[in-house]
Amino acid sequence: MKADKDKCIACKRCFPYCPMGRIQSYHRHETIPGRVYIDIDQDACTDCGMCLRAKICPVNALFQPEEPWPREVRGVLSNPMIEFMGSQTPGRGTEEMKTNDVKGTFLPGEVGVGIELGRPGVGAYFRDVETVAMALMKANLGYELAAENPVTHFMSDKKTGKLRDDVVNEKATSAIIEGKCKLEKLPEVLKVLQEVAKTLDTVFTLEVITKVPPEGEVPIVPVFKKLGMWHSINSKNNMGLGEPHFKFYEDEK
Ligand code: SF4
Ligand code: SF4
Repeated sequence: MKADKDKCIACKRCFPYCPMGRIQSYHRHETIPGRVYIDIDQDACTDCGMCLRAKICPVNALFQPEEPWPREVRGVLSNPMIEFMGSQTPGRGTEEMKTNDVKGTFLPGEVGVGIELGRPGVGAYFRDVETVAMALMKANLGYELAAENPVTHFMSDKKTGKLRDDVVNEKATSAIIEGKCKLEKLPEVLKVLQEVAKTLDTVFTLEVITKVPPEGEVPIVPVFKKLGMWHSINSKNNMGLGEPHFKFYEDEK
C-alpha cells in the first residue's frame, strides 16, 4: 500500500485501521510549503488493504499499486478480498479445516494440524514459515501437506517444506501451514512444534482437528492432557450448508 505524497495531508485517520501498527512516518513535502505527508513502511506493510477498504482517507491518497512477484504474495496471504488463483479460493487462499464435514479431508484416525504463523501487529516473514514447515517434514512423522494451500504452493520442494528462495523475505499478516498426520503421531508432531517455536521471530496459533466419533469422545484431548499442554476446544462448524460427500462412520445417515 502506498500514500500519494502530493495528496496526503497527514490527518492520521488511516492509522487505527492498520493491523501492523504504527508503520507510517511523517515527512515534510519537498515542494509544497507547510505540507506534511505520511509514508508507509514498505517492509512492514503486508498489503492487507484494510486502510483502503475502510474508505476513511479524506483526500483519496491511499492506493494499492499492482505489485510484482514476489511482493505479490503479501496481498494473496493478507488481503481477504484477493482470490488465490492456485486454489481458486478467496479469503487468503484457504478454507482451513472447517469444511471437513463436507470434504472429508481428515478421516477417522487422522488429525488435521494447521500452524498459523503471525498475528495482526506482528505478522510473519516466510523465512519463519519455512523454518516450521522444514522442521515438520524433517522429523519424518508422515505429516502430509495440504495441496490446496498457498504456503504449500510457494514451496520449491514439498518433500522438505522448503519455500522458493524469492519469497522467504516476504511477509504476511499471517500464513497457515496446513496438513494432517495419523493420530498416533500427534504427540511427536506437537513436540517438534514446541521445539521449533523457540527459534521463531513471530508467534503461531496451533489448530488441531479430528472427526468426533459417535461415542462423542474427542480423540485429541487425551493427547494434549498427557503432554500437559493447554488446549482450547473451539469449533468452526459447517452448519449443513454443503452436502457431505463423506460417510465417516457406518451408523451415520
Ligand atoms: S495495507 Fe494493511 S498493513 Fe499496509 S498500511 Fe494499509 S492497513 Fe497497514
Ligand atoms: S487518511 Fe489519507 S490523508 Fe490521512 S494520513 Fe492517511 S493517507 Fe494521509
